[in-house]
Amino acid sequence: MEEATLQLQLSFKGGERQEGRKQLRPLGKDLELTNRAGRICLELGLNSLAHKVAVRWNARMRSTAGRATWPDAVVELNPALQAISQDETERTFLHELAHLVAYERAGRRRIKPHGPEWRRACCDLGIPGEKAGHNLPLPTRTIRRKWRYFCPGCWAVFDRVRRMRGTSACYTCCLKHNGGAYDERFRFVEKRIS
Ligand SMILES: [Zn+2]
Ligand SMILES: [Zn+2]
Repeated sequence: MEEATLQLQLSFKGGERQEGRKQLRPLGKDLELTNRAGRICLELGLNSLAHKVAVRWNARMRSTAGRATWPDAVVELNPALQAISQDETERTFLHELAHLVAYERAGRRRIKPHGPEWRRACCDLGIPGEKAGHNLPLPTRTIRRKWRYFCPGCWAVFDRVRRMRGTSACYTCCLKHNGGAYDERFRFVEKRIS
């Protein structure tokens, strides 16, 4: 629980620092994102991935927002993301990096691209509940829920329009592991998502 929360906070801070930056990035390898990917991998204890990971902008990508290739450990991003928002760029970067983290951790074991290993990596990278889709977001969206909560015990995720008041924990996990009483280990981790 504490470890998961700490990693999330680190990732969120990293995301906020990026905001407000508007200039377009050059195509090809992105040194800043590559360095960030490396640091994130180091934080997760994945030293060998940290040294080989690379992040690139690929102008040939069309409707695909991002792509992760393995075992060369490359994240490719669609430059169109830059025109959409810094948030979408960040989210796609983390989505693709989560693929690399999942593959690195799996070693020789075969895993599904968006299976539990990837979802776990998404949680570690601060994007719990990330969807499998890679398509670029439509320019207009209906009303979106603003707050996302996830349980560090079972990784259940749900979104709410309004923020939850006070502290609350996952009932399923509290019931299963603590006889239904509040258990700090299963306190929901909150993230603002829009
Ligand atoms: Zn994916
Ligand atoms: Zn739970």
